[in-house]
Amino acid sequence: MKKLSYTILTILFTLSIFYSCKQEEELGASIFDTTDKLNANSASYQFDAWLRDSYLIPYNVDFRYRMQDVGSDMDYNLVPASLEKSQQMAKLVKYLWFDVYGKIVGPDFLKENGPRIIHLIGSPAFNPISGTILLGTAEGGIKVTLYSCNDLDPTNVDMMNEYYFETMHHEFAHILHQKRNYPVDFNQLSKGRYNPIGWQYYSNSQAASLGFVSPYAGSQIQEDFVEIIANYLVKSDAQWNNILLMASKPGVVVDENGNDEILPDDGIDGQALILKKFDLAKKWLQNSWNIDIVKLREEIINREANISDILN
Ligand SMILES: [Zn+2]
Repeated sequence: MKKLSYTILTILFTLSIFYSCKQEEELGASIFDTTDKLNANSASYQFDAWLRDSYLIPYNVDFRYRMQDVGSDMDYNLVPASLEKSQQMAKLVKYLWFDVYGKIVGPDFLKENGPRIIHLIGSPAFNPISGTILLGTAEGGIKVTLYSCNDLDPTNVDMMNEYYFETMHHEFAHILHQKRNYPVDFNQLSKGRYNPIGWQYYSNSQAASLGFVSPYAGSQIQEDFVEIIANYLVKSDAQWNNILLMASKPGVVVDENGNDEILPDDGIDGQALILKKFDLAKKWLQNSWNIDIVKLREEIINREANISDILN
């Protein structure tokens, strides 16, 4: 049963994952009350105190693992994250996101520019009508929501990258370009080729051949921009090079018999487009934010080798 549901999840997931990135009014830096109001008799006291010391005080982040209806999307049928998975996720998010920026960009960078709230949800958010799964949301630079936390498998780095860490970098890149506009030249590169309502029907190969690092990158310009950053940060060299390889060839889709069907050459140099998009994103991060994306990625990849240590 577990395998079946996971298989279904995997199939759906590979077809169409996306992030809902609402552009809402920014509230400015909110400062949470850091005085100790925790209940020492609570079963989760130790974890709550760790969250206070690891997120609230150093980063001014309210890390919410108890699902709140008012803070979650009521359009979906959602379940809360378990305490065990919340603890693992909290450690991983700190280790692979907050502490990476702290070390490479500066100790106050995320405190000044990061989200104020991280909200965990246990289940994915299915949309049966479009056949898509929502993996994360970012709202106005204030709050990042991560879904499917109860599926967290700390031994599976590729799965964690696809489900959670790419989502974090994706949402955070939105926060950054909402504060300082992304390069205008980016608008010209795939002009007229975005598909806001049909992107989920692209295969990875077809998307790459059109110059998109993922199907969702082909949905609209801002998603394209942050997908370049997020994919580069979490993909291994082999995975990144595979995207470039796919991009250099005509796209492939699976036909009704389950066989690969090679599409007619679209006449687009997908590889050149992806490299140009990456170059613009890299320069923008360096010039607008003093972020060296190559160093950031090296740090993430090095840390991924130690995941089992930090969870024990
Ligand atoms: Zn997005």
